[in-house]
Amino acid sequence: MRRIFSGIQPSGELHIGNYLGAVQNWVRLQTEYDSLFCVVDLHAITQDYDPKSLSSLTLDMAVSLYAAGLDPDKCIVFVQSHVAEHTELNWLLTSVTPLGELERQTQFKDKAQRQESILAGLLAYPVLQAADVLLYKASLVPVGEDQVQHLELMREIARRWNARYGEAYFPEPQPLLTRTKRVLGLDGKAKMSKSLGNTIGLFESPEAIWEKLRPAATDPARVTRKDPGTPEICNLYTLHQGFSPPATVEEVADKCRTAGWGCLDCKRKLADHMIATLAPMRERAAALKRDPAGVMARLRAGADKARNLARRTIADVRDRMGFLKAGED
Ligand code: SF4
Repeated sequence: MRRIFSGIQPSGELHIGNYLGAVQNWVRLQTEYDSLFCVVDLHAITQDYDPKSLSSLTLDMAVSLYAAGLDPDKCIVFVQSHVAEHTELNWLLTSVTPLGELERQTQFKDKAQRQESILAGLLAYPVLQAADVLLYKASLVPVGEDQVQHLELMREIARRWNARYGEAYFPEPQPLLTRTKRVLGLDGKAKMSKSLGNTIGLFESPEAIWEKLRPAATDPARVTRKDPGTPEICNLYTLHQGFSPPATVEEVADKCRTAGWGCLDCKRKLADHMIATLAPMRERAAALKRDPAGVMARLRAGADKARNLARRTIADVRDRMGFLKAGED
């Protein structure tokens, strides 16, 4: 079985954008690949963050992943900082990473523009991403299109390390592009994001889901009930594709184009399917939240499994890079 690795920032509970954009796919992949999924808390500190909330946000993200369907019997779920080998390999890989390549990363340039003081960690972020994946010698990385450039750099780092220290030791990871479209926020403008307040949380009540969907932006050409619309430009249609069965998605497209339904009818259908999909996740999340010790035990077991794999890689890497073994005479 080929191995995959993917990470998610500890942003607290998942929203439907995170779910459709990544985690729904992970749940499917966990049975097809030897899978590691990681809450990447070490990445979270490369930007301004609140140390008082980091641990609770990390735990909430872990609860979300389990509730969304990641099964510790089928995949490894763990917290990045619980496996210290990530930081060790990160440092070792900086010795083969060209500074110019890091400075050219689009995400770095975008984020750096918005910050008064730029931290070295923000620049070196892709090296830690490379360490995350190479530590487990994963050959595939499920990513969105915006991460493809980082993956190219990851391959470059693997190639340079292999050329210097051990031909073909690290596989060059390939992207496994997610099928789901980018989900916009309920305003229909920006990417769905908690900081913009345009999300629906994965565990929100049916009433709250409907309250948020009812005023959500649709095709602006549908001014009145009789105006036909274009589903492809409506974010609610994208959400139907994520939550509704194929027959409903077809019906939505038809009723939208022919003005057979009003947008409110369409939203009610979407709410029904979304509520039905999310109900079991909400129940699982509630049970997990009642048992934080159980969640921690799962995370510890996940970290133990990940560490076992990581230690083997680190031992090989140290050996090939020529470090003196601890305890040698
Ligand atoms: Fe969007 Fe549905 Fe309205 Fe069409 S009918 S514009 S898909 S909400």
